[in-house]
Amino acid sequence: MSGTRNPNRTSLFRLVTIASSAFGAFLLGMWGLRFGDGLAGITAQAMVGIVGGLCALSAAGAAMSFFAGVDESADYVFRETQLDKLTGLLARAAMVGKVAEAAAAAIRTGKPVYLIDIDIDRFKHINDAIGYSQGDALVHAFAERLKTLMPEGATIGRLGAGEFAILYPDDKLQGSMEHLVERLIETMMQPYQLSSHLQSVSLSVGVVAMPMNGVDPVVVLRRSNLALQHARARGVGNWAVFQPDMGRVADHRQWVESELSTAFERGDFDLHYQPQHDLMSGKVVGYEALIRWRHPERGMIAPMEFIPIAEETGMILPIGAWVLEKACGDAKHLPRNCFVAVNISPVQFMTKDFVAQLRATMDRTGIEPSRLELEVTETAMMQDRDRAAAVLRELSDMGISVAVDDFGTGYSNLSYLIDFSFRKLKIDKSFVSRIDRDSSSGAVVSTIVGLSRALGVSTIAEGVETEDQATLLKAAGCEVVQGYLFGRPGPLRIEDGEARPVIEEPELRVASLH
Ligand code: C2E
Ligand code: CA
Ligand code: CA
Repeated sequence: MSGTRNPNRTSLFRLVTIASSAFGAFLLGMWGLRFGDGLAGITAQAMVGIVGGLCALSAAGAAMSFFAGVDESADYVFRETQLDKLTGLLARAAMVGKVAEAAAAAIRTGKPVYLIDIDIDRFKHINDAIGYSQGDALVHAFAERLKTLMPEGATIGRLGAGEFAILYPDDKLQGSMEHLVERLIETMMQPYQLSSHLQSVSLSVGVVAMPMNGVDPVVVLRRSNLALQHARARGVGNWAVFQPDMGRVADHRQWVESELSTAFERGDFDLHYQPQHDLMSGKVVGYEALIRWRHPERGMIAPMEFIPIAEETGMILPIGAWVLEKACGDAKHLPRNCFVAVNISPVQFMTKDFVAQLRATMDRTGIEPSRLELEVTETAMMQDRDRAAAVLRELSDMGISVAVDDFGTGYSNLSYLIDFSFRKLKIDKSFVSRIDRDSSSGAVVSTIVGLSRALGVSTIAEGVETEDQATLLKAAGCEVVQGYLFGRPGPLRIEDGEARPVIEEPELRVASLH
């Protein structure tokens, strides 16, 4: 609480209030004494009584002023320290106290209380990209929506920049926890209208039940966050309930961080290739290079587990350079009319000498520019728009195609697209996976296809797993598709003296689509 002062009730203000009241009482006393022998027929005894009464009144005034000051200050300090200024929700410290109270109540009544930890994915990147005032507006809008969603009796707090927590008593649950969290994620992931643009967000959610999963507030908060990290590693819009073995995840993260550079030097990494099919011709037009880490003791480690860590630590730079070199070199083993698509991390894309390094890699490997496609996310482009626009122009001049990866999950400010040179929008698999179940995903896909036509670029959809999805995508006008339906990512293998990608055969044929 130190450092927070109530400007309306400074020490000086209080001192003056109390001192003047006391001085008033003193003057009254003195005045009374002057007429000690009686005044206007009032006896001396009655006079002492009156003066005493006036003194008491004055002292009571001083005391009231003091306590009003204390109350007001207590309120003030509470607002300053316990509430988050931007959202009016409980701040982290207050939330810790509420978790402790809820845990005690759960033990006493035997009724569980859930702690739901919600974090906006890549909030820091969003904040950097849209600027702090728009970032604040986003947090505010997010909190307002969260308040309207929660019933009375649920306690909401803001734990960090883009992180919120809800204490939810079991007896407020209407239906299952699963239903509650899924509705929560779906509603909170609807785009936010900010003054400058419509902002999309994705979330990760972790849930802990008290008292089963702990009663110490610090432990409970750590566990809800562990569950959240676990959910995040599984991809966009996921949630997880805390499991005791999740403690290992945190250790695992540290292990990954410490192991990455050894793994890189030891040559643990490899590239797998996943085909991209043209829906009209039914032919493979390109292959996306996807990194694979096979650890000698721990086996395969998923990119989603180590790429974000490599981005944080900077290891993505040597790893990304290696991916680019290997993919460009491998292109000569791919069918001649196919390109190779390489994922470029935002960290890599924003380095000063990215284009120079790319040119050097292309010279060394001899790849033709027309056979290289770079997959760059919206996030990467939004960090420094002017620089991104310049880099994209340079790439376009070099004859290299750029696809905007994970399109639809980042910034829905479509106007920026006009400034950028790119050839493709890659529709994120989160829309594709729901296209046959939910009409709003279908509408998003149709809108993206319409937008791409207006911009004169093409579309590719990723994560296509079912024939229904492929049919709907084709109907929406999407040209190229990629997903398990058409082939899983596979390694390049030498067969009959020639290297070629070994792609697992799709279970369903594409023939029925055209
Ligand atoms: P991404 O660029 O969106 O890549 C597509 C991911 O979806 C790949 O996961 C791919 O294996 C998976 N996928 C493909 N078809 C399907 C499908 O039909 N259904 C489902 N559910 N998933 C499908 P992967 O290989 O685990 O890679 C995950 C992410 O890691 C990639 O997402 C990309 O962001 C990143 N990544 C992978 N390789 C590299 C790389 O070389 N450099 C960088 N910077 N990032 C990479
Ligand atoms: Ca990609
Ligand atoms: Ca994606």
